[in-house]
Amino acid sequence: MNNRTIERYYSVDLRQIMHERNKRMMFRFTLPNSPDGFADLNAKTITLHHEQLRLATTRSGFGGQNYFFRCPDCNRRCLLLYLISGSYHCRQCLGLVYKSQQATKTDWTRVYNQAEKLARRIDPSFRFKDYISTFGVIWAMFPTKPKRMHWATYYRLRDRFVCTVEKANKLNGLDMIQAYKNLL
Ligand SMILES: [Zn+2]
Repeated sequence: MNNRTIERYYSVDLRQIMHERNKRMMFRFTLPNSPDGFADLNAKTITLHHEQLRLATTRSGFGGQNYFFRCPDCNRRCLLLYLISGSYHCRQCLGLVYKSQQATKTDWTRVYNQAEKLARRIDPSFRFKDYISTFGVIWAMFPTKPKRMHWATYYRLRDRFVCTVEKANKLNGLDMIQAYKNLL
């Protein structure tokens, strides 16, 4: 996952929180685009977005302490946590969450490709892309029946096509126009 991807997620920076500490062990803090949070360094907790995040400490060279978040997923120490789907993850764990979302996308892309292949048995130049602005009803996208083909065969293919597109729409939770716009 590259930095451009990671920037799309809301992140909480512990250094920014500690900036408001002023030597206190308990303090309120404000982050941009976020409700006020509360830090309790004795209990080693940060409360933010109704969530309690645990802190870890290491000794610093000057008799003080360095504070870190404990990632809620993997327990690793980190200074940045990323919010995705309502829960916090460190950079490493976010990469895994991101990958699993990619896998889902791959799944429904594959199903659309299956549907496209069915349509290409009739019209080899068929592409969903060409229907993005005009498409309304799924079966209406299917190419017209070639003269040489029996109606029964044609309808069977078209039914499979409709079922396959519906399956992909269900997988991605979007209608097809949106899904395909995201792919382009
Ligand atoms: Zn983690």
